[in-house]
Amino acid sequence: MKNVVLILLLILSTVIDAKTKVIAHRGFWNTVGSAQNSISSLQNADSIGCYGSEFDIWITSDDKVMVNHDCVYQGVTLETSKYDELKNLKLGNGENLPTLESYLKEAKKLNVHLILEVKPHKSIVRQNLAIDKTLLLINKIGLEQRVTYISFSLDAVRRLIAKAPNGTYVYYLGGMLSPYELKSMGCAGPDYDERVYKDHPGWITESHLLGLKVNVWTVNKEKDMKYFIRKNVDYITTNNPVMLQNLLQ
Ligand code: MG
Repeated sequence: MKNVVLILLLILSTVIDAKTKVIAHRGFWNTVGSAQNSISSLQNADSIGCYGSEFDIWITSDDKVMVNHDCVYQGVTLETSKYDELKNLKLGNGENLPTLESYLKEAKKLNVHLILEVKPHKSIVRQNLAIDKTLLLINKIGLEQRVTYISFSLDAVRRLIAKAPNGTYVYYLGGMLSPYELKSMGCAGPDYDERVYKDHPGWITESHLLGLKVNVWTVNKEKDMKYFIRKNVDYITTNNPVMLQNLLQ
């Protein structure tokens, strides 16, 4: 009986606490004058009041951490190229390809949370260095309270859990681990493709019962947004943050 009451209280506290938060996927970029993973997309996510702005990082061969989604940008492979080969490449809106440092310095002036994705590098040694340099930079700029880490790489997830300050949220993106397995390794919770939750209908409630948070990506259609709002997920990552904000109001 005591256990039943405890479970009911847990469910109740989850529901009370459960205003789904909006994360702009690669920033709020699908608006005039912006581009994915640009500094303007970060500013836009902040200006419309998103909880978070997501972006991706790579390290160059001369140890500069850059913000970009794909491993290759305009024919240049980030992981095996020098910063000099990248620094003059332009995004669709005319901005230079941002360094993580320039991105974070802009973020420091804003309020939006940063959802930082460490891309799976070909070399684990280089990926480890990307993580270590990122953590140092975030500490130096004073953003530790505002950064959440995500990755498809379990190596990256483990390193981030071990090295980021206690209490930092780290999520696994890959969809392969159950809530219990995520909890056991110290993850904040699942941050999975929407299809994973539809294939495992119990995982959202199970995560909440374990005290984990639930994020889902990339939810762009109104009917899917409504589905996950009803499921009380903690965060929805979307390319359409304005649509999601309107649904949540
Ligand atoms: Mg990403």
